[in-house]
Amino acid sequence: MSQLQRHSKTAAFQEWRRQTKASSVGLVPTMGNLHQGHLSLLKEAARHHQAVVLTIFVNPKQFGPKEDFARYPRTLTQDLELIQGMNLQNEVVVFAPETAEEIFPVGYSTQISLGPLTQILCGQSRPGHFDGVTTVVYRLFALVKAQCAYFGQKDFQQLLLIKKMAQDLLLPTQVLGLPIVRDHDGLALSSRNQYLSASERQIGLALPRALQELQEIIIHHGLEQAQKRRLELLTNSHFEYLEIISAQTLLPPGPQERELVIVGALRAGQTRLIDNVLVNLKQ
Ligand code: AMP
Repeated sequence: MSQLQRHSKTAAFQEWRRQTKASSVGLVPTMGNLHQGHLSLLKEAARHHQAVVLTIFVNPKQFGPKEDFARYPRTLTQDLELIQGMNLQNEVVVFAPETAEEIFPVGYSTQISLGPLTQILCGQSRPGHFDGVTTVVYRLFALVKAQCAYFGQKDFQQLLLIKKMAQDLLLPTQVLGLPIVRDHDGLALSSRNQYLSASERQIGLALPRALQELQEIIIHHGLEQAQKRRLELLTNSHFEYLEIISAQTLLPPGPQERELVIVGALRAGQTRLIDNVLVNLKQ
């Protein structure tokens, strides 16, 4: 039987962290409304650590003024049931702060900002978003003191920035990225998919289909052909961006580049979807 504990106060969570006998702790940061993508991270963390901490925090700092912070789905009871249903043998701790002040107390003022990489791709339409992400993740790392933290490759730019933050600031937590979990029709699982009407979902499917098509063109016909097709695909006005870039730098790939990532963002109605696929070119 798994031992599921839940904390809604930072002080109580810190007390757990101080006294736990677990030899290693894995961290899975989320905004809740859990789906199989989140659970895949938790499962992997549980394979490697005696104790796992899953945080549920809808971080106000990473939402812009016109974004969906207020209506973001908050489903704590259902989330706890899903975790309970996994029957993990580990010590499982859900840290779901009851207010934003539990994480950012009155007077909090420090921002973590990684510079130019935060301003491209998703950063272009979401100014300040990645500063909000790295700031909260830094604070969660400091609270949880995990050996490893698990993130999805679905948010590729976010994962790269968090890895870079850990490297730049010499953080003791190792940052790991895990593959994207998809729905039966190919759409990457996301808490935001539930906003989609049936017709918006059809519009949304253009994103994984474009990524897959470009991946196949790169493999069979090369990058130049893929770039031509990419420009054609971009005439679909629902795309916010669709880029083929270096998976290491997020910049246009040089001729020797072997690890590419095709990244895209698309708007279907009020909902913004992101997705990506990796392409490893043979030596
Ligand atoms: P979120 O709750 O959307 O902030 O996501 C929390 C974590 O789950 C992040 O590391 C995401 O990259 C990851 N995640 C979200 N969707 C998926 C998915 N479809 N497959 C794998 N990981 C995911």
